[in-house]
This record gives sequence, C-alpha cells and structure tokens, in this order.
Amino acid sequence: MNWLKYVIVTLVETLLRGFPFPCKTGLIKIGNPGRDAPVFLTCNFQLTVERVKRALKGMDAYLLVANSRGINVWCSSTGGLLTNHDAISVLKTSGIEDVVDHKTVILPQLAATGIEMKVVLKKTGWRVVWGPVYAKDIPVFMEKHLVKTPEMRQVRFTWDQRIEMAVMWAFPFSAIAALITIPFWRAMALPLISIILVLPFLIFLSFPLYSHWLNPKKKGTSFSKYTVLFDFGRIPLIIWGFFLLGMVLFGLRADVLSWEFMLRWGIASFVVILLINIDLMGSTPVYKSGLHEDRFLKIVLDENKCKGAGFCEQVCPKNCYEVDNVRHLAAMPRADQCVQCGACIVQCPFDALYFRNPKGDVILPETIRRFKLNLLGKRFVKVA
Ligand code: SF4
Ligand code: SF4
Repeated sequence: MNWLKYVIVTLVETLLRGFPFPCKTGLIKIGNPGRDAPVFLTCNFQLTVERVKRALKGMDAYLLVANSRGINVWCSSTGGLLTNHDAISVLKTSGIEDVVDHKTVILPQLAATGIEMKVVLKKTGWRVVWGPVYAKDIPVFMEKHLVKTPEMRQVRFTWDQRIEMAVMWAFPFSAIAALITIPFWRAMALPLISIILVLPFLIFLSFPLYSHWLNPKKKGTSFSKYTVLFDFGRIPLIIWGFFLLGMVLFGLRADVLSWEFMLRWGIASFVVILLINIDLMGSTPVYKSGLHEDRFLKIVLDENKCKGAGFCEQVCPKNCYEVDNVRHLAAMPRADQCVQCGACIVQCPFDALYFRNPKGDVILPETIRRFKLNLLGKRFVKVA
C-alpha cells in the first residue's frame, strides 16, 4: 500500500503546501543495503521524504532524515531551519556509522545554503557529496558515479512545479474565501471562489510569458515595499482604482450604490488583486521578488584566493560557474543569472567569494553563513 500512502501524502501536502509537514527523523533502509551502500540525507518534510524514497526505489541504500522542522530542503536551508547541527545530529545519532564502512553522505544540492560541508567533515569525519537538485535525477547521478550534469545542478520552474505552486496558493485562499463569503455573502461565494481557484493557475502557467518583464533589480515600489504578497508595483493599484470607479458608475446607473455595495465589491476585488500579485519569491528559487533586499547584491570572485576546488560550481542552482581545472580557477560566465542564494559563498573553503551591495560594501562570507533569510527575504541570525 506504499503507492496509496504516496498518493495521499502528495494530495494533502500539495493542497496545504504552505504548511510544515514534519515526519520522523532518523534512518530509513531502502532495499537490502550492505556495508558499502550509498547514504543519502534529506529533510523531514514528508512529501520530500516520500519522493526521495520513490527515486531510490530499486536501489539498496540508506536514507537519513534530518530535522528541517517539516519544511522542504530549499526553504529550510535558506531560512536557517536545516543547519549543520541537524545534519551532524542525524549522522551521529541515527546509527548509520554502525551499519556502513564508509563516511560519504550524499546531500541534496539545495541544502548547500544551510549545511556547510567543511563543518560536517570537521565535526563528524563524513565527506559531503552534493547530489542533484531534483530527487528524480538520483538514479542517473548514481549511474554516473556521483557526477552531476549541468542540467542536474540547475533549478527550473517546470509546468508541473508551477501547477503545484498554483494549487498551494489556490486551495487555502479559496477555503478562506468560502469561510467568509458563505455565511455573510452567499451570492458572491461561487463567483469569488471560482476566480480564486482559477487565477493562480493562469498566473503560474503563463509565468514564462511574462517572467522576463519581472525585473528583480528594480527598486521596490511603495506598494511592493509595504505588502507581503505584492510585487508588480503600482499597476495593480491603478487597475483596482479603475475597477472601483467603474463600480461607482455602475452603482449610480443601476441605482444600487451604497456603502455596503462598495465595501463588498471593494473587498472582493481586493482579494483578486492580491491573487494576481502573488509574490513568487517563496514559490521558486529561480526568481527574487521585489521585496527581497538581497536581489541587489552582486556576487564577486576573488581570483587571488580561488584554488579551483569547484564547490561553487557543484552547488550553484543557476549554473553561474565554470571551473578551469588546468588553471585551477573559477570563472562566472553566467553571473547575470545569480539569484543571490549564497550557496557558493557558504561552501567555498577559501572564502574566495562574497557579495557586494550597491553602495560598494563587502558582505563577508561569515555573514552569509551566520545570517539566514526570513520570509520577507531579510537576513536574521540563526546560528547552529
Ligand atoms: S571560488 Fe571557491 S569553491 Fe569556487 S573554485 Fe574557487 S576556491 Fe573553489
Ligand atoms: S552564484 Fe548566485 S545563484 Fe549561484 S550559488 Fe552563488 S549566490 Fe547562488
């Protein structure tokens, strides 16, 4: 009945994706692993664990589940909830050291913003290998003897992921709308709930058509600065203003204008405006929203410190790097693709990478390692 569990977990946790779903941490046996079986580590977001187990089906391996407070790998690592401490803790307490003869652990690449391979090695003796971004690529990664292709390193925002994100927004919003409208404004319930269900799908599915207009380098507008979910600036406010004006004119013509009429249509249209301005920041690592202050940071490579170790190339989810193995030097031919995740800075063993802000100040690697991002894209202290 494993497939049934997989279907239920997928369904429930996709509908309620915005909420944590912690599962048990510790050691899971996949197949019939021997003492040289590969060891994988992942977060304790239940849907992720089920997906990794599915990707490992047919293999003999061990899976370590670390405590990420029930949140997925990317969000928990970037937000300081999947840390060195969590990785070290599961390596030390799960009993894995008693059942294998090696000390190599494969971590999901997107954990590189939160777990430092250098610290894990120093504290436990375990060598970290960065696995692919997506669990589905694990079998090919294993076939290639732990070598990742550039495609395996890159985050994308494919149509199936966009559908998942649309569901994540549509379901709770429509449930809230139903709770409010059914008791207080029954006539409006069905149209409003329908709009709320459909709009996120339109927004996310058409993302490739408009994403090139979303300029993360643009300064936040007054609107995007003060609200959590908004990112398109003043345009939605103007549209909303025109809509309300239209409703006043309609109300006057139809002789139905009243405070109650305007309040109801104002609230209903505001909900719709909220939805068409969904901030994609929390939904995908490929885009930094207008709220995210880090979007102005520039990644800088100090060639004098770089020794060509190549960890930056291994962990960058946007494939910004290429490492010259002859000159032992990294280059950034696609620096313009950087989404300021900080993974390369966190992992560089020689501190050859850092951020520079628009004023020219240097943000040291230690700062990026110590300060993690909150939901508004601001860094706060969360030290393991
Ligand atoms: S920047 Fe750091 S991680 Fe990247 S190749 Fe140079 S030394 Fe290695
Ligand atoms: S270059 Fe940018 S996107 Fe790539 S790992 Fe570094 S901070 Fe992240």
